[in-house]
Amino acid sequence: MLIDEVQNISLDVKLIERPWCSHCEENSAYINSTNSVQRADLDGRSYSEVIEIRKCKKCDNEMVFIKDFQYFILGINLVCLLIWLSMSMVWIYLLPFQAYLLIGIFFNTLIVCLIRLFTRKHRGVVSKWKKWYEFEKIMKNNSNL
Ligand SMILES: [Zn+2]
Repeated sequence: MLIDEVQNISLDVKLIERPWCSHCEENSAYINSTNSVQRADLDGRSYSEVIEIRKCKKCDNEMVFIKDFQYFILGINLVCLLIWLSMSMVWIYLLPFQAYLLIGIFFNTLIVCLIRLFTRKHRGVVSKWKKWYEFEKIMKNNSNL
């Protein structure tokens, strides 16, 4: 079952909370598709799960929620920080030779960089959005969008 409805964005919602198309670079009108899919339960029964997809009316790309992206990036960054700190503790306290510390820190940083690659796309979209947002603010001469 697929229900499509066209959504126009209400203007009383803050810009950051509106769905944004990263392709068109605007809060374009979008199509809200609610699709229910049948999934198997662990007991062998099935249940239906509703999936909501918002697609830009103009370019058919999926709309993004910048706030969700920012939380995701923040979460990954916190995880990276924790990993980096706890791994550094291991290097500092468990290994007796200071010479290994530099290698250890280099290794930690490498791991963290690898994990952060997962957020590369998100970070790209957020920085694109920020530029667009600054531009919007200037264009509309309104600092509390
Ligand atoms: Zn679009």
